[in-house]
Amino acid sequence: MDVKILDEKNGKLVLKIEGIEPAFANVIRRTIMSDIPVMAVDFIDMEKNNSAFFDEALAHRIAMIPLKFPNTYNLREECSCDGKGCSNCEVVLVIDKKGPCVVKAGDLKTIDELVTPADPEIPITYLDEKQSLKLEATAILGFGTNHSKWQAAVVGYRMAPVIKVDADKVKNKKATADSCPKKVYDSGLKIVNKDACNLCMRCVEISQDGIKVSANPSSYIFTIESVCGLDNKTLINRGLDRIQEKAELFLKVAGKDL
Ligand code: SF4
Ligand SMILES: [Zn+2]
Repeated sequence: MDVKILDEKNGKLVLKIEGIEPAFANVIRRTIMSDIPVMAVDFIDMEKNNSAFFDEALAHRIAMIPLKFPNTYNLREECSCDGKGCSNCEVVLVIDKKGPCVVKAGDLKTIDELVTPADPEIPITYLDEKQSLKLEATAILGFGTNHSKWQAAVVGYRMAPVIKVDADKVKNKKATADSCPKKVYDSGLKIVNKDACNLCMRCVEISQDGIKVSANPSSYIFTIESVCGLDNKTLINRGLDRIQEKAELFLKVAGKDL
C-alpha cells in the first residue's frame, strides 16, 4: 500500500492510496468516519437555565460541540471502573454564566486542560439580563456508529484516473484541453494535473477517441475532513491502528495468526 498526500488546505486532506482493493477502500472510509473513539458530551445535569432554549435543545447543542482530547482516556465499557465512570473514562465540563452575554463553547470549563472545545467561538445560547445558565456536562468516548456527536470525520473517495492521450488523433487540442473542468491538460494536451480528474469523460467525447480515460480499481483518492477535535493525520493513524486491532481480533477468534 502506497500513500501520498496530494493537498492539505481549509481543514481538508486529500491523499492517494495505491495498491488496495475496493472493499479495503471502503473499510478505511467507514473506520475513519465512525469507528474511532471520539469524545463528546453524553450527559448534562442542568442546575439552572432560564435562557430562551429548553434544556433538551441546549443539551443537544452542547453534545454536538467537537472536543479536543488526549489519547489517554478509556472507553467506559473497557475501563477498570467497570463502566461506573471515573477520571480515566469521563471528564466533567461546567458552564456558569450570567446574562447579558453570548454563551460560547469556550465557556465550558474543565479540570483537564487538555479537553477543550475545538472552536471556542461556537455559540451555545444568548442570555439576556437576569438570565443565567449553570450546568455540569459529562463527556465520554464513543463511536459515530452510535450517534453523530461521536462521528470523527467526513470521508469520501473516488477511483484514481488512468488517462491515455494520442495527441496526433485529436484535431483541436486547445478546445479539448479547455473542455476539461479540472484543468488536467495544458494547451498541447500534455497531462499536468492527472489526479484532479473526476472521470467526467468530457475530453473523451470532444477528442473523438484521441483520449481514453478509465478508473483504476486499485488506486483511490480520499478526501478527509475532521469534524471532531482530532486533526486529519491523527485520524488516519488511529483509523489504521483500529483496522489492525480488529483484524487481529478476528484472526484470534478464528484461531489464526496475522
Ligand atoms: S475525464 Fe473530465 S476531468 Fe478527467 S481529464 Fe477528461 S475532461 Fe478532465
Ligand atoms: Zn472509568
